[in-house]
Amino acid sequence: MTIRSAHRPPRPVDPSRTRRRRALLAAALLAVAPSAISHSEPALAHVALDLEVPADAGSAGSDAGEQSYTVPATAEPPKVDRTAEVTIVQPSAPAWVLPAAGALRDGFGPRPDAPVAGVGAYHHGQDIGARCGAEVRAAAGGRVVQAGWDGTYGNWILLQHADGVQTGYAHAERLLVHVGQRVKAGAVIAAAGSTGASSGCHLHFEVRVHDTAVDPVAFMRTRGVRLGSR
Ligand SMILES: [Zn+2]
Repeated sequence: MTIRSAHRPPRPVDPSRTRRRRALLAAALLAVAPSAISHSEPALAHVALDLEVPADAGSAGSDAGEQSYTVPATAEPPKVDRTAEVTIVQPSAPAWVLPAAGALRDGFGPRPDAPVAGVGAYHHGQDIGARCGAEVRAAAGGRVVQAGWDGTYGNWILLQHADGVQTGYAHAERLLVHVGQRVKAGAVIAAAGSTGASSGCHLHFEVRVHDTAVDPVAFMRTRGVRLGSR
């Protein structure tokens, strides 16, 4: 394969200058690729013999090899597929994760028959049947904006995420984060419990979008997480 620069037409060759350049190039090839010699000596000889360099090729300030040369057959450049789409896959953790393993219990919405005295007639979250002491994880990365006792919610954590989204975690046995702390998705932030107005260990998981509570099951589904999984 011969590569010839497009901007410079071939010129008459001065045999004496060309011989000298052949020798220089052969010496350079031997110097830079001594390990290749035993495997590809014929190819290297091919390079030296086929070389035809214009006498003034070096005057442009570039290596004579850039003007006109023959490369070994083994040095074919990789094929290029210009129609292929390039997708960069980040080996990063998922943005949203399951906050706690366990079956779905009381769901989001009106709750005319309050399970425990003191809880409201509207259930602002999704109850997940987590075991006592089970790990409660940050559903997404964010900042802890509340962590402490909050009446019927018992031990409660509220996380602030991007795009005006908050997630809340109620009835914890123990809190493992403090206000102002930054947490990554999946970080263990509490141990599930039954504090506050609760009739047994579970996680009350809440999602608020711009301060409005939304159905956590539907919201998490849009984030690729199925609440109720174990
Ligand atoms: Zn609840």
